[in-house]
Amino acid sequence: MTNKVTDDTQALPLVVAANAPKLPNKILPFCWYFFRMFWPVLFVMMLLEAGQATFTMMLSYGMKELLDAVESVPLNEAGGVYTALKWPILVFLGYNVGMLLCARTSGGLLVTIGPRMRAKIRETLFAYLQHHSQRYFMGNFAGSLANRVNEVAMSVMHGLWTFMFDFWPVTITFIASWFLLQDVSANLANLLGWWMLVYVVVSVLLASHARKLSKDFAAARSMVSGKVVDAMTNMMNIKMFARSDFERHYIRSALKEEVSKASRTYWYMEIMRWFQGITTLVLLAGFTILSLQDVATGVMTPGGFAMVFSLVLLIMNHVRGLSRSFLEFFEYVGNIADGISIIVRPHEVVDAPKAKPLNITKGEIKYSRVHFSHDGRADVFKSMNLTIKAGQKVGLVGPSGAGKSTLVNTLLRLYDIQKGSIKIDGQDIAKHTQDSLREQIAMIPQEPMLFHRSLMENIRYGRIDATDKEVIAASKKAFCHEFIMEQPEGYSALVGERGVKLSGGQRQRIAIARAILKNAPILVLDEATSSLDSLSEKYIQKSLDNLMKGRTVLVIAHRLSTISHMDRILVMQDGKVVEDGSHDELLQEPEGLYAQLWGMQAGGFLPE
Ligand code: ATP
Repeated sequence: MTNKVTDDTQALPLVVAANAPKLPNKILPFCWYFFRMFWPVLFVMMLLEAGQATFTMMLSYGMKELLDAVESVPLNEAGGVYTALKWPILVFLGYNVGMLLCARTSGGLLVTIGPRMRAKIRETLFAYLQHHSQRYFMGNFAGSLANRVNEVAMSVMHGLWTFMFDFWPVTITFIASWFLLQDVSANLANLLGWWMLVYVVVSVLLASHARKLSKDFAAARSMVSGKVVDAMTNMMNIKMFARSDFERHYIRSALKEEVSKASRTYWYMEIMRWFQGITTLVLLAGFTILSLQDVATGVMTPGGFAMVFSLVLLIMNHVRGLSRSFLEFFEYVGNIADGISIIVRPHEVVDAPKAKPLNITKGEIKYSRVHFSHDGRADVFKSMNLTIKAGQKVGLVGPSGAGKSTLVNTLLRLYDIQKGSIKIDGQDIAKHTQDSLREQIAMIPQEPMLFHRSLMENIRYGRIDATDKEVIAASKKAFCHEFIMEQPEGYSALVGERGVKLSGGQRQRIAIARAILKNAPILVLDEATSSLDSLSEKYIQKSLDNLMKGRTVLVIAHRLSTISHMDRILVMQDGKVVEDGSHDELLQEPEGLYAQLWGMQAGGFLPE
């Protein structure tokens, strides 16, 4: 099922996969999506922070009361000091205790929910990302996406804490100060009121521009992370071509861009700091002049004067912190905006509304007038028709770029076709769930990728509930049991990132064991034996022949010898099936592409 949400950034409806989290793509609703899950605790924390701010400010008032009481103590009266100061001191202490209790309870709640909330955000973003298409992952650096997930989670959290621990208490402090000042001098209260208004409006206007700069800066940072991870992943290439210096320069140019974005952001922030520093001085000067006038005219008591100055110091302290918080806050907002713009995009390949699971009983595949283009310009398939009977073993050959992989990728629905239909056992794959489709097709890719997990876990990926015994049986059939047992840790051995600690042939055998375990009615092999030596291939071929029994099989091959025994061979060229028949039938056409390729295949490989 799909969920449509308006998406201003793309001017398109935001199509979200049914089982993906329904993440909003605007900053406030996006943050609220997570805050909502923890709102009772956050609400209590806000109350506690308001309490703490009020108590902190009441200290100024407590001091005024204390000083006024000191002034009123009759000097010659024994015990008069004690009587006059008892309550003001107790109240003053009470404010301190209240402040401490509020602060620490709020701190305890923060420690409790902070890590949970951060984990929730990362988990949700990961869940959303998982539903993006193959095309999306091909177009975005893995490292840059991982960096964005972390930055968004960190920024949502820090943005919330900035609001809760800085903006919110400051708001309370300003409002309460205004009321306290009313009691002492209306002029001062008015000055504070106007100053607050100007300060907040100008700060928000300045900071909203900082947000755009921060977003660009965040994008530049993610780009650098992506390029660094890409270089790390290609370390072998870098070494083989002795391109360490080249790569350093390459990364340096990305870093240069980051530095330029950082400088613009930080200089702008400096300007904001100037504005905030100057306005604070203006406030201090205004308060000093007005309160001295009030003392001179007797409107203000010495206690009142002390309270005004302690309030001014408190406000100045807050404002100094506030200028930093404003800048950081808009940096977080920029990070979130950048993350949302990349991660919370429409999902390209989604299940149809009320899609049901596909039920493959026989395995007949039918392409009817299929039209497909990767980029909307160059067509790969134009009105392609193709039927593969249930249980048929089909070899796919053809020059590079002919569309063999695209045929398989559209069958697996890694890409959606633009027109026509692809049916399996009469059921349109576009109308059924993607998971049920892929669960029933076993694919052995040319370069199988493995997780950096144990061999046992990697093979069991074919069927998560398989027992150890079943995993070992599948490994034996795929001829990988022996080399696994040669590893010191056996099936518990870790295989390195993407399986780098194994040879290409070993990775292929692991992939074959996985497919054996998956036991799917349709099997797709993409040059599955290309990395094997001739001896292993002979064994594996036997095992694959066993695996192929009773299933519909599609085999992409460059070495024609690997598919010559198939029931049927499809020769593809420019997105069309140009020849179709068994090996013997195709050789009957000496002018045909297959016969020519077969003739040219002296080394066993297809020429380009
Ligand atoms: P090979 O034998 O080299 O793997 P192939 O027959 O499998 O080639 P495809 O990979 O299906 O060919 O490619 C068919 C056409 O689609 C080619 O012109 C290719 O450039 C294009 N193509 C493939 N993948 C993409 C992509 N992700 N984006 C844009 N065009 C693509």
